[in-house]
Amino acid sequence: MKNGEAATPTSRVIAVVNQKGGVGKTTTAINLAASFALEGIPTLLIDCDPQANSSGGLGIARQGDGDDHRKSTYDLLLGEATVAEAMLPTEMENLKVVPSSKNLIGATIELIPMERREFKLREAIEPVKSQFPFILLDCPPALDLLTLNALVAADGLLVPMQAEYFALEGISELMSTLDRVSSSFNSGLVLEGVLLTMYDDRTNLAIQVTENLKSFFDDKLLKTTIPRNVRLAEAPSHGKPVALYDAKSRGAETYRELALELLARRGMESPEVKRRKAAAAAAASSLKSFQVPEKKKRFWTKKDS
Ligand code: ATP
Ligand code: MG
Repeated sequence: MKNGEAATPTSRVIAVVNQKGGVGKTTTAINLAASFALEGIPTLLIDCDPQANSSGGLGIARQGDGDDHRKSTYDLLLGEATVAEAMLPTEMENLKVVPSSKNLIGATIELIPMERREFKLREAIEPVKSQFPFILLDCPPALDLLTLNALVAADGLLVPMQAEYFALEGISELMSTLDRVSSSFNSGLVLEGVLLTMYDDRTNLAIQVTENLKSFFDDKLLKTTIPRNVRLAEAPSHGKPVALYDAKSRGAETYRELALELLARRGMESPEVKRRKAAAAAAASSLKSFQVPEKKKRFWTKKDS
C-alpha cells in the first residue's frame, strides 16, 4: 500500500447513490473501483445492495447453501464480522470486495431496534480506512436504512444519472436527504459529482437535458460522460470489470477517464500517472541527449553548394 499512502494519507469513501433503479450505479461502482485499482491505488468495493450485482459482476458467486460461513455486508452491519474477515480478493491485485448476500434485505428490519443503527457501516470500515485510499459503496435503488448507512459512512456522493426527460425526478429528494444526513449525522458529506451514464450525444434530448443538469449542478456535473456501450453490459456476465473484459472499449476508456477526473479534482496523482510521467520525461531527456551527427545533419547539402 506504500504507493497509495503516498498519494493520500486518508481514505475517501464514495457512495454511489441514486434511488432510481437501473441508472448505472453498479456498473459505475465496479468499473470506477477497477479503474482506481489499475491506476495502482488499493481500492475496496462494498456491495450494499441485496441484489448483489456488484459482487456477481466481480466474479463472486452467489452464496449457495454450502457457503453460509461466508461473511458479507450483512455481517458488517450487524457487527458479526470485521471488514478484514468479510473482504474477498478479486482478479485485480489492488481491488478487494465485501460481497452482499440475500439476507442483507433483512438487515433493514434487524437494524431498527439497534442503537446508532445509522452508524454501523461507518464504524465497520473505520479500521481499514488507512489501507484503502478509495472505498466505494454500491447502494440499492432506495433511500432505506442500507443507503442511509452508506451516506453516513461516506465522504462523497457520486450520483449516476441518465440524460432523459425524467432525469431530475427524485433528485430533489436525494439532495434533501444529503442535506438531512449532513446536518444530523455526517457533517463531512458532500456531493462528489453527478455522472451522466448510458449517454448518447447524438440526440437533441440528451443535449438539452445535459444543459439543464449543467445549470442545476454547475461544476458538480462531471466532465466525463459514460456512453452506452455494449461491452459494459456484457462484462458482468463474465464476472469481470470492463477493463479486463475489453480494455480497448469506449466503456473501459471512459471509466478510466472518470477515475482520472476524480483524482484530479482531489489534486491527486495515481502511482500509474506518476510512472507514466516519469517514463515520458525519461524518453524526452534521452531524445534531447541524442545529437544528430554533423555530417548526417547536412546530408542533403550538395558538395559544390
Ligand atoms: P439498480 O438500481 O437495479 O441497482 P443500477 O443503477 O445499479 O441498477 P446497473 O445495474 O449498473 O444500474 O445498470 C442497469 C443495466 O444497464 C445493466 O444491465 C447494465 O449492464 C446496463 N448498463 C449500465 N451502464 C451501461 C452503459 N453505459 N452502456 C450499456 N449498458 C449499461
Ligand atoms: Mg445496482
